[in-house]
Order: sequence, then C-alpha cells, then structure tokens
Amino acid sequence: MSQEERGRALNSSVLVLNRHYMAVRVVTARRAFILLYREAAEVIDIEDGQFCNYDFESWCELGQLRSEDARDHDDWVRAVHFDIQVPRIVRLVRFDKQYRSTLRLNRRNLFARDSHCCQYCGQSLPPSQLSLDHVVPRSKGGPTTWENVVASCVKCNTKKGGRTPQEARMDLNTKPRKPAHNPMLTLKLDNPKYESWKTFLPKGNWLMG
Ligand SMILES: [Zn+2]
Repeated sequence: MSQEERGRALNSSVLVLNRHYMAVRVVTARRAFILLYREAAEVIDIEDGQFCNYDFESWCELGQLRSEDARDHDDWVRAVHFDIQVPRIVRLVRFDKQYRSTLRLNRRNLFARDSHCCQYCGQSLPPSQLSLDHVVPRSKGGPTTWENVVASCVKCNTKKGGRTPQEARMDLNTKPRKPAHNPMLTLKLDNPKYESWKTFLPKGNWLMG
C-alpha cells in the first residue's frame, strides 16, 4: 500500500452515530480511529443488510480475516503488523445528544448545494474555480444567506459585477434556497462507498453542520 493510498484512506469519510443510532456528524477516518482506539466509539458494519457492532479489537481481528478477499470500495490502512479496514460508520457509545439543527453557510456546503455548477452558465467546475456570488449584491444591501448566495464561475461573476440578475440580464438556473439536507452528505450518498450510510439517514428530518 503506497503512502498516497494510505493518506487517501485516512481522509475518507465516516458517518458518526450517537448512542441511539442517530446520525450526528461526518468525520475523517483518521478521527474515527482515534475515537475507536479510545473506546469512545464502536464500528457499525453492514453486511448482507444486517448490521453488527465491533469494538476496536474485534474490528482489527475481522479485518485480518477479510483482508484476504477485500470487497470493492473498501479502504484499508496499514498498522504495524496488519491491515485495518476503514469503517464507514461508527457509533459513539456514550454520546446522547442529537444532531445540530443549523447547517453552516460556507463555501464547501454552498458549492455542494449547487452541485459545483455555476448557477448562471451551468458549467461544472472544481471548487478552486468557483466563487460565491451575492444575487442581490452586498452594495445594494443583499444579505449573505442561503437564499441570496450562489456558486458562480469567475467569468459570470465578473460579467454580472455589482448588478442584480435582472439588471445584468443573467438568469439563475435555480432559485437558491436553504437545503433541507446537508448537501455534502447528499453528494456522498451518490458514491457506492457510502451506500451503508443510507440505513441511518432517514429522509427529511435531519440536518448536520
Ligand atoms: Zn458561469
């Protein structure tokens, strides 16, 4: 396993559940391993539609059995003498609290809401080539809210300048609104790696920051 593969595996995402099996947040695998090692969390693994709980030690043992015939989409990290499979879900064994009820408005969440597409020309771009556009410009009193900020490519942002879409004659592809779900999670759910998360993400009534 190369250094790069291991780095990627440690940065993959892990869904964190509270004691009552409710989704509370998403962390990196690196963070999840710390929680497991400290016995603050256990692994929830889904196989054939059934889920099983493993403490860190039994998870490592299971990994040794499984590493012989690893499934697609599994990630592994190398410990001193053996490989450890990266869990997709962990459960905090002592944590009772529920999810946060506000979704933070930041570049990452906003670009995810807009599926990394410029909301004027529709071009799909990497985050480094997108900017935040205030639909009603700040200079005209436009607030920084989910309803007034969209992803825009640099070209469209420059063209629009300090004008409203009407003034600039540039139509928005969709009406911006606050997402009902964490858009980062919605993107993850499209990835077969994170298929098992769906079991713990009931439709409609959760938000995460
Ligand atoms: Zn554009």
